[in-house]
Amino acid sequence: MKKCVKCGLDENYTGITFDDKDVCNYCNFYEKHKVEINDEKSLELKFQEKIKRAKELASKNGAKYDCLVGFSGGKDSTYIIYQLKNIYNMRVLAFTFNNGFSTQYGKDNIENALSKLNVDHITFSMDDLKLRKQYSMCVKMMKNFCSVCFHNMHYYSYLFAYQNKIPMIVNGRTIGQILQCAEDTDRIEPFETSMNLKDFEHQMFKGLEERTEKSGKIEYLKEIDHIEAVSYFAYHKVSEEETMKFLEEKIGWKRPKGVSGHADCWAHAMAEYLSIQKHGHPIRKGELAVLIRQGDMTIEEAEKILEKDRENFQEVSMETKEKFYNRIQV
Ligand SMILES: [Zn+2]
Repeated sequence: MKKCVKCGLDENYTGITFDDKDVCNYCNFYEKHKVEINDEKSLELKFQEKIKRAKELASKNGAKYDCLVGFSGGKDSTYIIYQLKNIYNMRVLAFTFNNGFSTQYGKDNIENALSKLNVDHITFSMDDLKLRKQYSMCVKMMKNFCSVCFHNMHYYSYLFAYQNKIPMIVNGRTIGQILQCAEDTDRIEPFETSMNLKDFEHQMFKGLEERTEKSGKIEYLKEIDHIEAVSYFAYHKVSEEETMKFLEEKIGWKRPKGVSGHADCWAHAMAEYLSIQKHGHPIRKGELAVLIRQGDMTIEEAEKILEKDRENFQEVSMETKEKFYNRIQV
C-alpha cells in the first residue's frame, strides 16, 4: 500500500493524493504554510485582535456576554474557559449540549469545573426523537455519529449567540482536528475564520456540508451571518499534557482513567469501532499525522498509539452495542 514518506498516511485516507516524491497533499500544504501556522507571536496578536473586536461589538450590542464557549467538561473546553475569563477578561457564557452520551466522569468534571470557573452556564437538550433520527441516519449512511453531536452543538451555539447578541463563539478543536484534511487556506484557521455555521462546518466536513444542505436534511441558520467562530488552539500551541497539568493545579481537574482520552462520552468505543470498519483506521489517525508534520511525534510513535487503539476498538462488547443502538433507535 502506498504511504506518504513524511507523515505515514496511506492511500485509503480521506481525500489524499501523492506527488511524484510520494509526499501527500496534506504534508505539502503544511510545508508551504508552516511558518504562519507556528508563528506564536503573530498568532497571539491575531487572537487578541479578535478578542478586542468581540468585546467592542458586545458592548455596542448591549450583550451580557462577549463570547459563548461550547463546554463538554473535557480538558480542552475547560482550559479555554479558564483562559478567556482569567487571561483575556472575557465575559463567557458556557454552553453544554446534552446528547445523552455523557458519563458520570464527564458529569463530575462539569460540576467541579463550574464550581471553580465562576461563569454562567446553560445546558441544552434538543427534541430527542429528532436527534435519534439524525444519529440513525448518519450511522446508516456514513458509519459515523460524532458529526451529529458536532453539528447540533454548533447549530445551537449559533442560535443562542444570535438570540443573545453574542458576537463570538470559541471552540476547543485541536490543531490536529483543524488541519487533518487541510489542503488550502479557504475557511481554515488560523488563515481564515468563519462568520456563519455552514462556513464553520467546512473546517470539519470539507464540502460535505454543501451536499447535506442541498439534500434538505440539515439546516444551517442562513440568516445568521455575523458571528465569528474561533478555534482557540489554532492560535495557542499547548500540548495535551500541559493542558491537563494546568487544570489539575488550578481547579483540581481529574484525569480520565482507562484506555481513551474520551472518557466523557460512553459511546466513544463505538465511534472508534465504526471508524475502523469504514476507514480501516482509528479516529485520530489524521490528527496524529499533523503532530508528525509539526515534529512533535515520529511516525513510529504514532503507529504505536494507533496500534493500541486498534486493539482496543476493533471489537466492542455486545452490551455497548446494545446500549448504543437503543440510544439512537427511532
Ligand atoms: Zn503526508
